[in-house]
Amino acid sequence: MGRRKLVAGNWKMNGLKADLPEVAAIDAAAASHPAIEVGLCLPATLIAAASAAGRNIFIGAQDCHQAASGAHTGCLSAAMLAEAGAGWTIVGHSERRADQGESDADVAAKAVAARGAGLKVILCVGESLEARDAGGAEQLVASQLLASLPAGAAADWLAIAYEPIWAIGTGRTPTADQIAAMHAALRAALAGRIGESAAGAMRILYGGSVSAANAAEIFALADVDGGLVGGASLTAEKFAPVIAAAG
Ligand code: PEP
Repeated sequence: MGRRKLVAGNWKMNGLKADLPEVAAIDAAAASHPAIEVGLCLPATLIAAASAAGRNIFIGAQDCHQAASGAHTGCLSAAMLAEAGAGWTIVGHSERRADQGESDADVAAKAVAARGAGLKVILCVGESLEARDAGGAEQLVASQLLASLPAGAAADWLAIAYEPIWAIGTGRTPTADQIAAMHAALRAALAGRIGESAAGAMRILYGGSVSAANAAEIFALADVDGGLVGGASLTAEKFAPVIAAAG
């Protein structure tokens, strides 16, 4: 299968130009791990400056609009982000699904738009705590994934991030067994939609309170191909050991 590990930071609504040295320090940390694909999904305002400086990491966005252009005040198209220097974008992060009311269909359309502009995509899915406690989280998240999956989904431009909502920014993580079961379920769901071989090539990241303390155990699990990392990606001091844990 040979899936290259992918570790991407999500800075969310954090970061000013004064934080660009941190991007450079993360870039330098990634240079020691060429086997791992490392990136930072930054606020759009930092993409141009960060991508001009980055050598060993990709710079990504955190969202794009599904339309190519038009009357969408305050939004950014995938082509705008690509022109600014983004190579990737996140779509379907749970914070956007919740705060902006993005549906599975919106997320799929955003992924298609991103691909059309030459961006690679990290597509996020994950369950609420209520859904986890109710049982059947695997079936629920697999359904969410299939409903959010863009046409033409393939490993050369798309990665999936499983992010349980209750683990994001909380310091709580699922057990290793729960993560492994979910990733296996998602790969099986992908296989049913795009075929065994294409699903076997697709990277499925884990996200939710990944840190230096737990990254090695999580990244070593079967079907876990790296991570999407929020809080622990904001500084090189915290992110460098997470990157190293994927090696
Ligand atoms: C995220 O928001 O994508 C995330 C995983 O955040 P954290 O690592 O802070 O839980």
